[in-house]
Amino acid sequence: MSGTFSSSDDFDDFAEPWYTLPEGSMPAQTAYEIVHEEAMLDGNARLNLATFVGTWMDEHANRLYAETFDKNMIDKDEYPKTAEIETRCWRILADLWHAPDPEHAIGTSTVGSSEAAMLAGLALMRRWRARRREAGLPTDRPNLIMSAAVQVCWEKFCNYWDVEARLVPVSHEHPALDGHGLEDFVDENTIGVVAIMGVTYTGVYEPVRAIAAALDRIQDATGLDVPLHVDGASGAMVAPFLQPEIAWDFRVERVVSINTSGHKYGLVYPGLGWVVWRSEEHLPEDMVFRVSYLGGDMPTLALNFSRPGAQVLLQYYLFLRLGREGYTAVHSHTRAVALYVSGEIAAMGPFELVSDGSDIPVFAWRLKDGHNPNWNLYHLSDKLRARGWQVPAYPLPEGLEDITVQRIVVRRGRRAVARDFLEDLRACVDYLEALDGPIPVERTSSAFHH
Ligand SMILES: *Cc1c(COP(=O)(O)O)cnc(C)c1O
Repeated sequence: MSGTFSSSDDFDDFAEPWYTLPEGSMPAQTAYEIVHEEAMLDGNARLNLATFVGTWMDEHANRLYAETFDKNMIDKDEYPKTAEIETRCWRILADLWHAPDPEHAIGTSTVGSSEAAMLAGLALMRRWRARRREAGLPTDRPNLIMSAAVQVCWEKFCNYWDVEARLVPVSHEHPALDGHGLEDFVDENTIGVVAIMGVTYTGVYEPVRAIAAALDRIQDATGLDVPLHVDGASGAMVAPFLQPEIAWDFRVERVVSINTSGHKYGLVYPGLGWVVWRSEEHLPEDMVFRVSYLGGDMPTLALNFSRPGAQVLLQYYLFLRLGREGYTAVHSHTRAVALYVSGEIAAMGPFELVSDGSDIPVFAWRLKDGHNPNWNLYHLSDKLRARGWQVPAYPLPEGLEDITVQRIVVRRGRRAVARDFLEDLRACVDYLEALDGPIPVERTSSAFHH
């Protein structure tokens, strides 16, 4: 160990307490270098094929970011323009998502889809509770229905707010929530159903219209009118540009609210999310707080008080810079790269695609049945990791948990990166296929970015 240090100074550094505040100060340059070098040891964003979150913005965006990183989103009084731009952004989204009357839609920015999900879930619960109270019925056992393939933020919502999470298992016949068998889950305590546009495990869209139709049938049979929320963390910023013909948004009458992550296919740096309600009546007034705003008051709803305002300005910058045409062009290119890579992987022999990247530019694959038992996708994930590529392997959710997949999220796809990746993937597969016995290590760890 000691041989790795070149001077006694290094030993002193090593003795620095990491978990207590240093007694003394140090020069800015030294502190900078320490943090800078530590941050460099994180994974390389270019080789990170696991994350959904934006890792690149253009020079003008970077300049704008540096000019505005001091803005606090809650200070509507001090930063009235930022507040106004926030409103413009969610109004743009309400319009993009076909709110019947965008002037009477309501929405807000958040730190991400998770906070947006908390707010949308709370609105569903409060509205259900108000209806039940009015009817003199108990309100102590709310439940929310969603696929077992739901993103963890919804399980968090249920856990934090004491709502029963009713997870609909996935199966070979019904790999996503599609309305089949929904009547077995819905009852008078159901506050809503969540449909996912872009399941994190595979990238596929859940058929929102079919889910809504199943809820229509349930209403006809039982009188229960169950609202639908769409978790469009990725897909709500993809479908309007790549699949404008799919009605998944406010065109479906049962959809009362939609969330998205500005920092995923909205193409902004982390942390930015959005939530929009079809109309004001779907957001209970008791969730809205009034803050002082230019002498008047401004309605706000958020879990946090202070949070950065710069990301909101970056989102508006991109709305102006790209427009419908630009988003369509960027996402079309990204999807073309996804389809190219998934096609190459399908043609390699050992693999079978679970999804091909034609919904959101995210796809997953598995090993073919009867494949060479000497290695599995966890081994492949480790081999790729050794070359710097982060491509997680993980089991599918409840119902299909015997299937292990590996997934790639293509962001602002570049063909050169795709070719480099495929070259390394082929080398790793060739190595594993040439082994003359099983790899002794059991299933190894692999980070899964939901
Ligand atoms: C990423 C994701 C989330 C969580 O979004 P954050 O912006 O990371 O908080 C929720 N749902 C789905 C479907 C996602 O893909």
